[in-house]
Amino acid sequence: MNKKFVISLIGAPASGKGYIASSLVKELKEIYGFRDDDIADISIGEMIRREKKNNTRLGQELAANMKEGGLAPDRIINEMLKEELKNVKAKVLILDGYPRTVGQVEAFGELLKMFKSAVIFRDTPKELILERVKNRRICEKCGMAHDVGDGVCSCGGKLIKRKDDEVLPERLAEYEEMTKPAVMELKNHGKNFFWYEGTAEGGDIAKSFLEANKDYLQEVLA
Ligand SMILES: [Zn+2]
Repeated sequence: MNKKFVISLIGAPASGKGYIASSLVKELKEIYGFRDDDIADISIGEMIRREKKNNTRLGQELAANMKEGGLAPDRIINEMLKEELKNVKAKVLILDGYPRTVGQVEAFGELLKMFKSAVIFRDTPKELILERVKNRRICEKCGMAHDVGDGVCSCGGKLIKRKDDEVLPERLAEYEEMTKPAVMELKNHGKNFFWYEGTAEGGDIAKSFLEANKDYLQEVLA
């Protein structure tokens, strides 16, 4: 059997999952000897964008569903991911933001019968996230990131909130309602579930997680 290790990265929106993912990749390469091709960083959001852009059957279904203001249905996400896992050659797969609903947790269990998996959950309180992004702005002219609240960029452009940040309260509410129960479900299954404080540093999370799974990483690499 070809060995793979699937790592699920779960946390609230804007809680720094992307940074944990890039720290995992960096450590896997520098400390554990994996090559670029051995690692796949799979973002569900990007998968959705790609399917829609390529106008695939699933992409069309997604577009129809999301036009009505709905979330991408679990069934489509699950199917998309199944295809992806079938085709991907990498040995370590990092799933950014999956599973995020109870319906996805069930499918996830099925999908992973063939692979070893683990969940990294970063438990960041809503207040901390809102505080962190409070002053986050980008320049509407040159796109440079700032952390000073409202104002003007050195290029003269006006500083505005990122689109994502503007809808952050709604996304956080959705996370509380949809994803929190999924996290509890995963935790209760108790299989390789790693819980971290929201204040834990992303790089430290990556290090300690990989250290805890190093035996299996060596098996996967062999
Ligand atoms: Zn600017």
